Amino acid sequence: MKEFDVVVIGAGPGGYVAAIRCAQLGLSVACIDGWLNPEGNPVLGGTCLNVGCIPSKALLDSSHYYLHVKQDLAEHGINAPGVSLDVNKMINRKNKIVATLTQGIAGLFKKNKVEWLPGKARLINDKQIEVTPVGTAAGEKYTVTARHIIIATGSVPMNIPAARVDNALVVDSTGALAFTDVPTRLGIIGAGVIGLELGSVWNRLGAKVTILEALDDFLVAADRQIAGEAEKILRKQGLDIKLGARVTGCGSNNREVTVTFEGKEGKQQLVVDKLIVAVGRKPNTEGLGATEIGLTLDERSFIKVNAVCQTNIANIYAIGDVVRGPMLAHKASEEGVAVAERIAGKSAHMNYAVIPWVVYTWPEIAWVGKTEQELKQANIAYKSGAFPFAASGRAHAMGETGGLVKMLSDAKTDRILGVHILGPAASELIGEAVLAMEFEGSAEDIARTIHAHPTLAEALHEAALGVDKRTIHI
Ligand code: FAD
Ligand code: AMP
Repeated sequence: MKEFDVVVIGAGPGGYVAAIRCAQLGLSVACIDGWLNPEGNPVLGGTCLNVGCIPSKALLDSSHYYLHVKQDLAEHGINAPGVSLDVNKMINRKNKIVATLTQGIAGLFKKNKVEWLPGKARLINDKQIEVTPVGTAAGEKYTVTARHIIIATGSVPMNIPAARVDNALVVDSTGALAFTDVPTRLGIIGAGVIGLELGSVWNRLGAKVTILEALDDFLVAADRQIAGEAEKILRKQGLDIKLGARVTGCGSNNREVTVTFEGKEGKQQLVVDKLIVAVGRKPNTEGLGATEIGLTLDERSFIKVNAVCQTNIANIYAIGDVVRGPMLAHKASEEGVAVAERIAGKSAHMNYAVIPWVVYTWPEIAWVGKTEQELKQANIAYKSGAFPFAASGRAHAMGETGGLVKMLSDAKTDRILGVHILGPAASELIGEAVLAMEFEGSAEDIARTIHAHPTLAEALHEAALGVDKRTIHI
């Protein structure tokens, strides 16, 4: 029986990063993962690389270029008549990117001497794990032993009885990344991050997209002002977002899907060619044997962990989407590093208060820290500064003047409490705010920092100046 200092279950951004860091710290480590690519080959990378962050961004970038060429270039004096779309090529490009990156992780495992065990893991007790090899690696079951176990089994799409995924006309996010042509009418259930990103891709490529969202408010986790501006822009782009629309049923023949929902005007129906169910994700503990060995789950079936990701069994840790907190790849990876360092006896760092969020619509939506409504609810006195991209020279040069940067800082100490961006490349711009908040910086710190001109980042500088009502360009 093989023995390791650490066995990691799951090779998504939580698990593979944890495994590499454990190896770097001199621990013997194996990583078990049961993911199979469409050809039945075991591949690393989990949801994020195979059917999540990376393929969705590949299609968002491709569809952005397509729309840009079709719609925006003429204004620059560039005429590109006869632009056409090859959806299969676009999907193949995405598949190639996924293959390159997942193979890259296999290379990193080799380099760091992480042993990759392709297969499904089941906990036998707090030290032993049964591995059932899968796909092209299929073979006899075997058992491995570990001093420490890190569970990083991630999450899977949530189902609702009202709309069963049939992988033909009704698909989940995975199916929506592999359409072979552009549906004429596309319905999406759920206006969360995934619904908005996938809706943007297919809307840009020409589908008539309707998003049904049960909640009355748009993008509830975001700052209200930013969400309101984003909603306006996305509607203008053609996304028909129906709020307060709870899907109660759906039926399909071979050609189209009829979705029934309770909307503002009572019971209504929507007929579409394809339907994407994007109603959220749930923790993945299926077949893991977690409760059988005595691990505690919380009321929503996440594996219960303390502040340092330790479960109720001392040598078993859990990280990423399978535990509390935002379902984000970078949160999973940072927990993975922190747990590896703790196991190796080092001090670990994980700052849950400063985790950036990004919605990769265009303009992008990104934020870190508290929203204005959260500060109001908590009765925290704050100052606020904002700067619209419509006043940014670089944004004009780019032809990307929608959106704004908003900064919130403590009324007394000026410490930055939250930064909210709707704008071009917000996903990159938020990094500066994250760094400032990690260093417990103030709005004044950003206000005194020289920003290159002309850049989009100047909007962050101006918003910081705005906190003390001294913006220059508005
Ligand atoms: P996962 O990535 O889910 O990996 C878990 C792995 O464990 C899988 O490979 C699974 O096969 C394996 N596994 C599970 N059970 C077992 C078992 N019993 N035995 C062996 N192996 C097992 N996040 C972002 O931060 N940015 C984004 O832009 C973003 N975009 C997204 C877009 C989409 C369409 C989706 C679906 C998600 C997106 N996410 C994004 C979320 C992100 O993918 C997850 O937060 C992240 O993958 C979680 O990482 P993880 O390591 O916890 O789990
Ligand atoms: P997220 O959890 O961010 O991935 O977003 C999923 C979204 O789906 C949430 O905003 C939910 O309100 C929404 N949702 C869940 N069930 C339904 C339903 N039956 N009809 C419409 N929207 C739903």
